[in-house]
Amino acid sequence: MVLNKKVMSIDETLIKGDGAGVLICVNNKVRQELINKLVALRWDDYLEIDDELINEMDNCIDYEKVAGLNRNNRVLLYHRVFNLQNDIWRLAVSPEEFERQIVYLKKHYDIVPLDELEFGGHDNQIAITFDDGYIDNYIYALPIIEKYQVPVTIFVATGNIGTECEFWWDEIEGLISNTEDNKEIHLEDYVLTLNGFENKKRACYLVREKILTLDYKQRRKFISALKEELRVEGESRAQNRTVDADELRQLDRSNWVTIGGHTVTHTRLTSQTEAEQRWEIFESKRILEKIIGHQIFCFSYPFGGVDDYDETTIELALEAGYKNIIAVGQRYKLGTQAKYCVPRIVVQNTGEDHRKGHPMMKSLFIG
Ligand SMILES: [Zn+2]
Repeated sequence: MVLNKKVMSIDETLIKGDGAGVLICVNNKVRQELINKLVALRWDDYLEIDDELINEMDNCIDYEKVAGLNRNNRVLLYHRVFNLQNDIWRLAVSPEEFERQIVYLKKHYDIVPLDELEFGGHDNQIAITFDDGYIDNYIYALPIIEKYQVPVTIFVATGNIGTECEFWWDEIEGLISNTEDNKEIHLEDYVLTLNGFENKKRACYLVREKILTLDYKQRRKFISALKEELRVEGESRAQNRTVDADELRQLDRSNWVTIGGHTVTHTRLTSQTEAEQRWEIFESKRILEKIIGHQIFCFSYPFGGVDDYDETTIELALEAGYKNIIAVGQRYKLGTQAKYCVPRIVVQNTGEDHRKGHPMMKSLFIG
């Protein structure tokens, strides 16, 4: 299926004759031959993607529709601004793409700091946020943020500040992708054979799913066991590290950046006891404030989905002194908790193919 149409050969289409449409991928060599055939068959309902159309798509980046911004969904969530090879978690937007998006957003929206966003107020207001605190936020995003003077909030998980360690999902990806083919991972209920990129990618997703609900200690235990089972060392990659204290201070010093909390170990808060949640929320706030030298008031839940936080989480974040608390999935739509459950739109790379913003392509975009 492509663009919700079944892909068929011309002959197949003629037999079925249901007018369902067909998308034909073809190289330039047989292009004329194919068009002649279509004309002969009295096919006029076809779309030829030529250089001109590709150009038109290039100039028709409709991020508004692409990103799904609307009255109730007006906060964008980025993670990484980096040309990341094999971005299996789909966290990165290339610096070039990020700049194009910022130019577009600035032209069409009033980009305000998160704490100034009026919900139910101006239709035109949006806010931009980043989660996790990857080094590329400092190297690649900051210069673009400053160049266009757009306010952003960056939520930083503190556990790896000043270390070379990667976030645990990157660690897993590193271990699995460095494993030689045909090795196996034994999970409780099934065995995964690692074989080739696609297969390893699926294994990463399954392992992530499996350990997402574990608390910090159980997760560390699982990853150590995995290292042993796969017999790989898994070296930290510098591109995946968290900003260090000095970089964090430089981000904070920018007039356009607000720093926010995002826990210590980036563990799903609802998988932890109240005491552990408290520690994650209070300790990360204490560390960030100590580094940047002033109080912070913004917080985002790790993962942020509807199952990743609850009333206890909200109460603890409020108790810690956070005022602007933001999610990804909207757990409570109504009531007093609603303002701490504001959803965000995760922005993912449209890759080389930012043409996906074209109306014809937008059904393919997963925003
Ligand atoms: Zn996060």
